Amino acid sequence: MIQNTLFIIKPDAVCENQVGKIVDIILKNGFKITAMKMARMSRKRASEFYAEHKGKSFYKPLVEFMSSNPVIVMVLRKENAVENLRKIVGATSPAKAERGTIRKRFARDGRHNVVHASDSPRSAKREISFFFSKDEIFLWKYRNYPVVKMS
Ligand code: AMP
Repeated sequence: MIQNTLFIIKPDAVCENQVGKIVDIILKNGFKITAMKMARMSRKRASEFYAEHKGKSFYKPLVEFMSSNPVIVMVLRKENAVENLRKIVGATSPAKAERGTIRKRFARDGRHNVVHASDSPRSAKREISFFFSKDEIFLWKYRNYPVVKMS
């Protein structure tokens, strides 16, 4: 089943100039970018986004980190996008992530772990609408752009 999922390149990866390398991995794995923007999350927005973790020891530092610098947010589309993206992202902590995954390659630790990927189709729906309105999401076809005449 074709699915949409939410992908965030976190402040650590933005500030370490790893955006291009990460986007390249996403595209080489066959994901279609149907929405993308750079945003600075306020503390309030980051608290809301991670509300399910409220009360956990890592919640406050996570909110501080996610609001510290800009993030890049994308909607990615592919067959079984949620599961497939989680696979290439890897486990939360790079120490536990499989070889070749984005977190194994780029993450510093379990908090500074460079990317976020929705954990279920239900979360994906909530998270996509958290960042994007319907008219910011584009369905486009590969190589189907109009040819402009240069007469
Ligand atoms: P998740 O909702 O599972 O993606 O977790 C949200 C984020 O919280 C993770 O991507 C990490 O940045 C952070 N996080 C989760 N568990 C820990 C932990 N044990 N220590 C520090 N940060 C964590």
